[in-house]
Amino acid sequence: MWYTGVLAFTLLVFGSLTYALLSRYLTWETDYSLMSKGDEVLRSIRVVSRPLRPQAIVLPDVNAFSSPYTFLQVVDVGGEIVARSRNLADQFLPVDGETLTRALEGKTFFETKQVGNQWLRLYNLPLYLGDQPVGLLQVGRLMHPGLAILARLRQILLLLGLLVLVLAASLGHLLARAALNPISRMTRLAAEIGEGRDLARRLPHHGPMDEVGRLAATFNGMLARLQNAYQRLEEAYASQRRFVADVSHELRTPLTTIRGNVELLQHMVESGSPIQPDALADIAGEAERMSRLLNNLLTLARADAGFTLERKPLNIGRLLAEVARRAPFLGRASFSLAGLGELEGCLVLGNEDFLKQLFLILLDNAFKYTPPEGAVTLEAALQDREVEIKVRDTGMGIPPEELSRIFERFYRGEASRRSGGTGLGLAIARWIVEQHGGAIRVSSSPGEGSIFTVQLPRLQR
Ligand code: ADP
Repeated sequence: MWYTGVLAFTLLVFGSLTYALLSRYLTWETDYSLMSKGDEVLRSIRVVSRPLRPQAIVLPDVNAFSSPYTFLQVVDVGGEIVARSRNLADQFLPVDGETLTRALEGKTFFETKQVGNQWLRLYNLPLYLGDQPVGLLQVGRLMHPGLAILARLRQILLLLGLLVLVLAASLGHLLARAALNPISRMTRLAAEIGEGRDLARRLPHHGPMDEVGRLAATFNGMLARLQNAYQRLEEAYASQRRFVADVSHELRTPLTTIRGNVELLQHMVESGSPIQPDALADIAGEAERMSRLLNNLLTLARADAGFTLERKPLNIGRLLAEVARRAPFLGRASFSLAGLGELEGCLVLGNEDFLKQLFLILLDNAFKYTPPEGAVTLEAALQDREVEIKVRDTGMGIPPEELSRIFERFYRGEASRRSGGTGLGLAIARWIVEQHGGAIRVSSSPGEGSIFTVQLPRLQR
């Protein structure tokens, strides 16, 4: 509509200007010659009073002023033709009441009149006796043939303009619809996606990469990111739910044991029978398991809350030596140390407590899942940019299908369910390694043993 409006306005201005300028140009020449002729004749006309008739107009010979193209005519107050130039023959210039009235009011003006199939341009001048208008001098000329065409031109311009407008409006409407169609289709689809929450859907667009194409691509990109975020959110929510379920389950088991033992002790006290030290040991053991579990949970909760470790440059060789001193207390398998000498003077940007916890988790697992006749080794090796520490055991190993899951929270291997554990150790270990910008890997063959490899970036001097 705006487009049609602007076009209509342009056409109107263009048409009127063309018409006005052309007609101005065509009449100007005629009008100018009529004016000078009229003034010339007027100067030679005298109006005098006569006793019988109120006034008479004394005319010069009008023919003296006429030319083949210029006609002259004098009309008196009554509308009677008093004189005419000869070239008019038996014709006369048209004069109606309105022309006369205007002239008698003292107005000088131009007129365009049709006589037969000819167009006449008339210049009307009032005649005065004193200051009393007494007649009218008409100077006429056939109009420029172009002026007749001009009248046609006006009709043509009007008709054509209307036609062009109607055409432009309907074509514009079609084009605008065609251009906006993909957008309204997209709007519909976007609304459907929004209502249905089916973020896997995409806006189809097979056209060129124009504005609409880019809009579709941007929208689809946004949908993909939204889908991704939504998926991650759902995963996080699911793991949260699993976590809560696991925690309550893990806490219930020791609590049940404790409660059962307390009841047993109460019964013993009431019945006066001697208290069994096993019950007390059970309670102490379970309480310790619970506090270990809670500590681990606290660490993971902190990790989830975005807690970052405070790190300082530390001597990794010394730290490993300290951890190794505690190793023999972790289990009965034989323990050996290798490559520590290589780490002389090597620094790592790390958190001492958490790094110790990391290696203790790995060593604890190694001893836990290795029979007393097996062996556990802690090996260190220096690399270009990293320190590589391996905890190797000759224990039961991990079946391949479990390997990808052992770093998950609360995940416990099928064969290890019997041993005391919470399934949180490796999850914590992985978090600590990540906090240090390192990597942790595992390789294992069931029945032969496992190797956990930790890589930590060296502090470059
Ligand atoms: P937890 O040891 O308390 O069960 P972890 O998170 O430390 O929990 O370990 C997860 C699982 O990975 C264990 O249940 C066990 O199945 C397996 N695993 C870890 N270390 C070893 C190892 N050295 N040898 C065999 N299996 C292991």
